[in-house]
Amino acid sequence: MLVIGLTGGIGTGKTTVSNEFAALGITIVDADIAARHVVEPGSPVFSKIIARYGNTLALSDGSLDRKKLREIIFTNADEKRWLESLTHPAIRQILFNQLAQATSPYAILAAPLLLETKLDQSVNRVLVVDAPENQQIARATQRDGSSAEHIQAIIRQQIDRAQRLQSADDIVDNSGSLESTHNQIQKLHQYYLTLSNEY
Ligand code: ATP
Repeated sequence: MLVIGLTGGIGTGKTTVSNEFAALGITIVDADIAARHVVEPGSPVFSKIIARYGNTLALSDGSLDRKKLREIIFTNADEKRWLESLTHPAIRQILFNQLAQATSPYAILAAPLLLETKLDQSVNRVLVVDAPENQQIARATQRDGSSAEHIQAIIRQQIDRAQRLQSADDIVDNSGSLESTHNQIQKLHQYYLTLSNEY
């Protein structure tokens, strides 16, 4: 089956774009959802994380304190590597299982870190949602109430815009109106439907 990897920096409009494809009946497999699923209490990944960092990483309802975990790995490259070597294979397994069950003519694998985690090697085409950094910051701060500095720090941790665009087979330019984005998606959808006949 034709699988399109959908990615983009923080606040570029990935969710806005994937919601439109979903409305067209396309199966969306979401790496963020899978990433949350693998650390649910009782899962092998959850148990290994608690064994390494202790019970202080569990919230009062028993779930993982993902914020605290993010803070640990934000400043410690070794811990980041350890965590990723544990979570990434588990996440991939979920994603590939879900893609295998997709029923639409093609499927979308939505992953903010598609390129950083090399998931692009497992898709047929890479679709990048693009917007300039000032818009990323304005939209993301307005949406979550985070500071511009916080969003900038996340942008610096992600692959840079030029490199991301270089890896793209297709691009949605989401710097304009929602209507312009909608029109681009309609065209891409027709293109992907045609391409899907070859898979
Ligand atoms: P994140 O990486 O943080 O999950 P995202 O890439 O999924 O973000 P969205 O959540 O789709 O981005 O968009 C960020 C915010 O910008 C949302 O509030 C969304 O409604 C708004 N937005 C997206 N596209 C546009 C647009 N073309 N014009 C105006 N606002 C937009």
